[in-house]
Amino acid sequence: MALYIVSTPIGNLQDITLRALDILKSADLILCEDTRETKKLLGHYDIKTPTISYHQHSQFKKIEYIIQLLDEGKNLALVSDAGTPGISDPGNQLIAEIARVSPAQIAQVSPVPGPSALTAAASASGFPMDKFIFMGFPPAKKKRRKFFEEVSLAKYPVIFYESPYRILKTLKELEATYDSSHGPKETLVVACRELTKKFETIYRGAIGQVAKEIVPKGEFVVIVKNK
Ligand code: SAM
Repeated sequence: MALYIVSTPIGNLQDITLRALDILKSADLILCEDTRETKKLLGHYDIKTPTISYHQHSQFKKIEYIIQLLDEGKNLALVSDAGTPGISDPGNQLIAEIARVSPAQIAQVSPVPGPSALTAAASASGFPMDKFIFMGFPPAKKKRRKFFEEVSLAKYPVIFYESPYRILKTLKELEATYDSSHGPKETLVVACRELTKKFETIYRGAIGQVAKEIVPKGEFVVIVKNK
């Protein structure tokens, strides 16, 4: 009776650990952010374990049901669409609730580590990563300026996620923040597109230069390092 937090590939389906495959095969049930997405992975590895959805809009009733399954002695695996659950993905609320109702059994929440867009990008950045700041996604509307100011003032490399729809807007607003707040300042950006996939590209350079070169298609992780 454990809840395994299982990391899954961020693109290349071969990026999954042997232990993750064993746990996905042997679990009683897999909790998925989107069952259709996870079924692609399960189909590839011929895993027939039943799935149910658990996502950020899941009601509290769903959490109670999951806790009941654990109490009945079931082994469950939690996965997100890609990468590591809980990192800008569903999972935290469920784990916090399990810890709250059965603190003595907290060890039963067990991570099965593996791919994450965050660590994949950090590892290929070439920036010193002994200390860094992860800021999730820039806000869609309000508080964008505050977000970019925080990036521009950071003492350590800052990592954030971005979608293809906003990547250019985000880079332009980030550049404008430097121009208006501090005057010209040397800042390096690494923008990782479609990591582990066919069109994987890593752009490196000044913000304006990267904004000019980037093809705004696919998924992005951006790392900014102030000099
Ligand atoms: N929990 C996931 C993880 O650990 O990788 C991240 C989930 S977050 C909702 C999804 C975002 O991660 C995407 O919008 C993109 O910014 C980034 N991402 C995921 N896969 C990626 C990839 N293959 N290449 C670049 N960025 C990726």
